[in-house]
Amino acid sequence: MNKIPCLDLKKQYAQIRTEVLKATEEVFDSTAFSGGYYVDAFEKNYAAYCGTQYAMGVNNGTTALQLAMLALGVGPGDEVIVPADTFIATAWGPSHVGATPVFVDCDPDTWEIDATKIEACITERTKVIAGVHLYGQPFDVDAVREVAGKHGLFMIEDAAQAHGARYKGVRVGGFGEMACFSFYPGKNLGAYGEAGGMTTNHKKYYDRVASLRNHGCQVRYYHDEIGYNMRMDGLQGAILDIKLKYIDAWNGRRQQIAKMYQNGIVHPGVKLQKQPDFAESVYHLFVVTVENRDDFMQYLNANGVAPALHYPVPCHLQKAYAHLGHQRGDFPNAEYLADHCVSLPMFAELTDDEVNHVIDTINKY
Ligand SMILES: *Cc1c(COP(=O)(O)O)cnc(C)c1O
Repeated sequence: MNKIPCLDLKKQYAQIRTEVLKATEEVFDSTAFSGGYYVDAFEKNYAAYCGTQYAMGVNNGTTALQLAMLALGVGPGDEVIVPADTFIATAWGPSHVGATPVFVDCDPDTWEIDATKIEACITERTKVIAGVHLYGQPFDVDAVREVAGKHGLFMIEDAAQAHGARYKGVRVGGFGEMACFSFYPGKNLGAYGEAGGMTTNHKKYYDRVASLRNHGCQVRYYHDEIGYNMRMDGLQGAILDIKLKYIDAWNGRRQQIAKMYQNGIVHPGVKLQKQPDFAESVYHLFVVTVENRDDFMQYLNANGVAPALHYPVPCHLQKAYAHLGHQRGDFPNAEYLADHCVSLPMFAELTDDEVNHVIDTINKY
């Protein structure tokens, strides 16, 4: 038997292959390669999906974060609060505009940004709190927003892993000044190449990011500021628009699989991500923690399951941020997660048999 992988994109492609190839042909025939009709259409549909006024397609999730920082006026000397346990790109956002990410520890059970620890990180240079809906599960938006409001800070959502997730029944994407999405192929809504997006309910941020992503111009060849080329490909817009029709079904299946894991895994040494009542996760990843990870992973690999790690090194201990002078022990919860996390297979096309095999294997460990 082939090992059950953590992620397999081929089965999903097989379902939509005809539609995707037809759309590809349309994009080529219309030569709407960069921005244009297909990106516009996707933006409109994605805003409707997220329940936000605006959505904008860009070239990847990392640039979406950079553009959000620029739109908020974040620059050299400024600080942005970022959870220590996230994919590193959350921190690239501030770093790419010359600001400093200031890391904060996560809750030991939900693994989300710990709102009670934010206040201690705020200085007069703090501009933004960047919350992350980690593994597809919303962080406590109200708690973070309260701290932001009290100190006159902006809040953005890094929703790169959480397309369609709900906080208190409302889809993520409209809670802060802006929300940044990644459509990297492995994300819940994945392009067939690189792509990202930004949603907002504020016209001024929409206008600013629209200009910045397109060479700083609103009227062609008239450049109001030094801009960037961070536009979305027409091809990605067309493909994402097709996939958007299926995202709820795919997320629904992920939630079913998560339920099976949550109800089925009874091994006392395996701990799951705690899910508060306010959070409806879309399970971008299904992460557990175990004490003896090397041994556990070896065992899974020997028994037909190929796990993965998200993420083995917390942001504050990455070499890229050595200049910030952090050490082991600074953020014990994020460090525990990095040292003990294991990602189980999670994608909509897993069969019940495969999920049950993962569960049985874990319970026999
Ligand atoms: C994937 C991801 C990003 C970056 O998105 P890219 O499209 O890969 O640039 C940012 N933040 C988080 C939390 C992510 O998971």
